[in-house]
Amino acid sequence: MSYAGPEFEPPRRPRRSPLTVALAALVPGALLGWVVYEGLGSAGDGAGGAEATAVGTPSATVSSSPTDDEKPSPGPSQPTSSAPPAASGPLKGKVVVIDPGHNPANFQHTAEINRKVNIGTGYKECDTTGTSTNSGYTEAKFTLDVAHRLRTLLHQQGAAVKLTQDGDRSYGPCIDERARIGNKAKADAVVSIHADGAGAGNRGFHVILPGSVNSGAADTRPIVAPSRQLGERIAGNFVRATGSAPSNYVGDGTGLVTREDLGGLNLSTVPKVFIECGNMRDTKDAAQLTSGAWRQKAAQGISEGIVSFLRG
Ligand code: ZN
Repeated sequence: MSYAGPEFEPPRRPRRSPLTVALAALVPGALLGWVVYEGLGSAGDGAGGAEATAVGTPSATVSSSPTDDEKPSPGPSQPTSSAPPAASGPLKGKVVVIDPGHNPANFQHTAEINRKVNIGTGYKECDTTGTSTNSGYTEAKFTLDVAHRLRTLLHQQGAAVKLTQDGDRSYGPCIDERARIGNKAKADAVVSIHADGAGAGNRGFHVILPGSVNSGAADTRPIVAPSRQLGERIAGNFVRATGSAPSNYVGDGTGLVTREDLGGLNLSTVPKVFIECGNMRDTKDAAQLTSGAWRQKAAQGISEGIVSFLRG
C-alpha cells in the first residue's frame, strides 16, 4: 500500500489496530452496514495513492467544471447556515471545533502552503491542496460542505461550534494553526474533515486517531485516550448513518487508523480525530461523496458520534 493521508506524507504502511472487536461491540449496526456494503460489491484490495494526486496537478482538477451533485439537501442543512446554538440541548456548554481539511484557494497559493511548519516531530508543509474526484469535485469543497452541515446539526444539539476556516481565507490555515485554533477554543472535541485520494478500488471511510507523541511542541499523551473514544464513537455512528463500510485498504477493517505523523493531531491538546469520509478516486465512493444527500448522512453520523462522546 502507499497510503499517504491528509497531510501528504510519503508512502507508509498502516499500523495495525486492535480495535476490530471493540468497534463491532460498540456499534452492532456497524456489522449490518458492512454486510450490506459488501453485498453491493465492493472492490478488492489495491495500492492507495491517498490524497497525493492533486498536489502536482492543481489546474487540471480545479478548473474543470464539476458535474457532480452540488445541490444542497433540503431541510436544516443549508450550507450557509450558521445559526447560533440552540438555547438548550445535550451539548449546551460544549465547544466543538470543525476543521474542514485544505482550502478551496490552496491551489492558487502553492508557495505559501508549501512552507514548512514545525509539528513537534519534524517539519511538514503548511497545508496541502487535497485531492478531488476524477470529474473535478475537490476535496476542499467537500470538506467545507460537510462542515457546514455538521455545524448546523451540532448547533441543534446546543453546542458552540467554530470552524478553522470557512472559505474566508486566501489559503490554509497551516496545520499548526489548525491545531492551535482547537486548543485556544478549549474545544471539547475537534474533528478534521477529509476525503481520501487513494487508488480506484480502495473504498470506505477511516478515522485517524493521534498516536502517543512527546517531541518538541507535540505532546499527545493526554489526548490519546479521549481521542480514541471520540474516534470510535464517530466511526460507529458513521457506519450506521451512511451504510458505508470501514476502509478496505487501511485499518484492517476497523475503520480506525493511528498515526503519529500528522501535525494537526500532534499539536492538539484537546481530543481530536480526522475522518477520511471515503475515497474520491474510486468511482463508487465518489458517487457517494458527490451526493448532497449522502453528505448529509455523513454529517449526521459524525454529529451523532460527537454527541455520544460528549455525553459520556
Ligand atoms: Zn485531506
